[in-house]
Amino acid sequence: MLSYQHAYHAGNFADAHKHLTLYAVTDYLLRKKTSITYIDTHAGRGLYPLATKETQRLQEYREGIWPLWQKREQLTDALLSSWLKTIVGAQPDRNELTLYPGSPWWLSQPLREQDRLCLFELHPGEHQHLNSQAFPVQAKRVYGDGLAGVRAMLPVATPRVCVLIDPSFERKVEYQEVADTAIQVLEKARHAVMMIWYPLLPAGHHQMLLDVLQASGIRKIWRSELLLREPEEQARGMFGSGMLVINPPWGLDKRLDAAMAEITPLLGADSRYQADWWVGE
Ligand code: SAM
Repeated sequence: MLSYQHAYHAGNFADAHKHLTLYAVTDYLLRKKTSITYIDTHAGRGLYPLATKETQRLQEYREGIWPLWQKREQLTDALLSSWLKTIVGAQPDRNELTLYPGSPWWLSQPLREQDRLCLFELHPGEHQHLNSQAFPVQAKRVYGDGLAGVRAMLPVATPRVCVLIDPSFERKVEYQEVADTAIQVLEKARHAVMMIWYPLLPAGHHQMLLDVLQASGIRKIWRSELLLREPEEQARGMFGSGMLVINPPWGLDKRLDAAMAEITPLLGADSRYQADWWVGE
């Protein structure tokens, strides 16, 4: 039984970290004409009006996109400014932040005629929301398990493939399931660019995901983590957001380092960013 609904968390600091990374990755992929299949294994609703009851309950966007939006005219980093301009473009009134775009929206933006997008969502209500959004014809929505779905889809017809795995980690075993899926995806599509999001929680279960991937023999795993606060200060709840990029485009690390250097002070005095190669070449 799935209970997680991303609308309660839409636009939080983890979304900013995840979607900026996603935006940067797709920006690199678009530099070549060869077609790409994007696969989003855990799509969510696609677009989040911030005024909904769910989002207003926790208002997590106030510690995420909101402080960045407020400073959008003064930012100097090119990647960050361009990402925020894209968010401005998604608003019905460009002066007001009323919608936060989720991963299906971010992945549908760069679609060219030759590209494909497949969006998996297992929660019936969330899938219904996703189905009500307008997406380009190349975007296919599937009501089903994204981990089984991505494995079954490979190999794809396009020369390039880019996968986002962004689970809610409601069950501890998901860390293992995600690692197993990533290994199987890379067995079938060695050059796939894969992004895996994970939460930094006091229990530290994400370490299992990192360790399994490290032991698997997969090379080129870049890890980036955005911490909102130090773990000791909050005994419960997510204190940081983690992102793995397997087979990252060349230069992605430096570009995100620069953008994150501008973001972290805006998220509060205790916020910090760390990134490294979890597994090198
Ligand atoms: N990727 C979205 C974004 O960035 O906007 C947010 C996704 S949210 C963190 C996780 C979503 O995965 C939830 O909507 C949940 O219903 C869905 N979900 C959970 N298990 C799933 C599975 N096995 N396959 C597909 N979707 C699943």
